[in-house]
Amino acid sequence: MKSRVLVLGAGFGGMELSTLLSEALGEKADVTVIEKGDAFVFGYSKIDVMFGRLTPEAVRLPYRNFVKPGVRLVKETITAIDPVARRVTTTDGSYEADFLVVALGADYDLAATPGLAEDGNEFYSVAGAGRVREVLPKFSKGPAVVGVCGFPFKCPPAPSECALMLHHYLAKRGVRGACDITLVLPLSSPMPASADVSAALIAAFAETGIKLLLGRSVKALEPGRKVAVLDDGTELPYALHLGVPKHQVPKPVLESGMAENGWVPITLRTMETRFPEVYAIGDGAATGLPKAGSFAESAARAVASSILAKLGIGEAKPNTGTGSCLVEFGDGRLSWADLDFLTGPKLTSVFHPPSLAGRAHKEQFGASRTARWFGR
Ligand SMILES: Cc1cc2nc3c(=O)[nH]c(=O)nc-3n(C[C@H](O)[C@H](O)[C@H](O)COP(=O)(O)OP(=O)(O)OC[C@H]3O[C@@H](n4cnc5c(N)ncnc54)[C@H](O)[C@@H]3O)c2cc1C
Repeated sequence: MKSRVLVLGAGFGGMELSTLLSEALGEKADVTVIEKGDAFVFGYSKIDVMFGRLTPEAVRLPYRNFVKPGVRLVKETITAIDPVARRVTTTDGSYEADFLVVALGADYDLAATPGLAEDGNEFYSVAGAGRVREVLPKFSKGPAVVGVCGFPFKCPPAPSECALMLHHYLAKRGVRGACDITLVLPLSSPMPASADVSAALIAAFAETGIKLLLGRSVKALEPGRKVAVLDDGTELPYALHLGVPKHQVPKPVLESGMAENGWVPITLRTMETRFPEVYAIGDGAATGLPKAGSFAESAARAVASSILAKLGIGEAKPNTGTGSCLVEFGDGRLSWADLDFLTGPKLTSVFHPPSLAGRAHKEQFGASRTARWFGR
């Protein structure tokens, strides 16, 4: 009998894992992917949507085009996970697995930050970015705050990108002189994994007059007074707030008993949870590494090799913790750092300075995944 692999979530991690298993096993694979959405959207497309560069429709990659031998994608919402029995309940039924992989990403806890849902303009979801797209053209004077409400959060440089994009967006409209921009980050630098990228961002903030507050997060918004309250008690007046909500694993994972302090503990080299034949990959896993798509793919490669090894094919390979962090500077330039956390004794980082030519790297990043997963 075929071994049943159940993959929860069709994001970076889930799609890469299923693709690798399909490539290795073809029709002999028995992979079921459970996904509640109709379409995949790259994380960075949310920034394109909020600043009006692309429409919400244009950035959707419909799952009907995710077609792989031996892989079945079902559109259902997961409501419960039993990691001991490896049983998953959905709105439509239940599934059992020989291997269970949780790849449900991170969810947003807007209620953790009072006032955020009312006046915070979160831009980390497609729906939120779509709403901000309508708000931005109405903002033309006063203080803007780009505020992060908790740590860890997806794509550490994304709030910095947002602040720089906002600067150039307002400059283009001729209203930058009437606006202030403050960026609040709960980090020690704009991108702790790369001192070079951080230095380039700090230089760009100095050039564009963006005020950077490090090591702090937004604790609450008071929409009546139009004030953001930081965790050290500082009060920042705002006319526009653009927010990154506190993150945690989706509710069914929280309720499954797999999570601790909002995230799923794993063994970093294997991505195994404490439950036999149950893995967690991507943003939901407590890796301590950046929460970004390419790190979810690195974890997917380790898990695919582990499952295949257990089926008698090849050797299990450890998670390399490798990934590429892309950073837009808002003026058309793009920088990135190729990071490798786990191959050697310490993190290695290769810096690619901001340049207009760097855009081709991002285009290639998106195009290669679109071709690999969606055949386009
Ligand atoms: C503004 C922004 C910019 C970013 N920029 C970059 C970047 O430039 N490069 C980069 O590598 N990363 C970037 N990221 C981060 C990247 O998007 C995530 O790290 C990546 O998507 C994580 O992959 P994942 O597989 O863990 O989860 P996801 O890709 O989030 O996939 C999880 C899937 O699970 C599904 N799901 C959740 N709950 C349920 C349920 N109950 N039932 C069924 N399905 C469910 C979701 O619908 C989703 O499709 C960015 C993120 C944001 C928000």
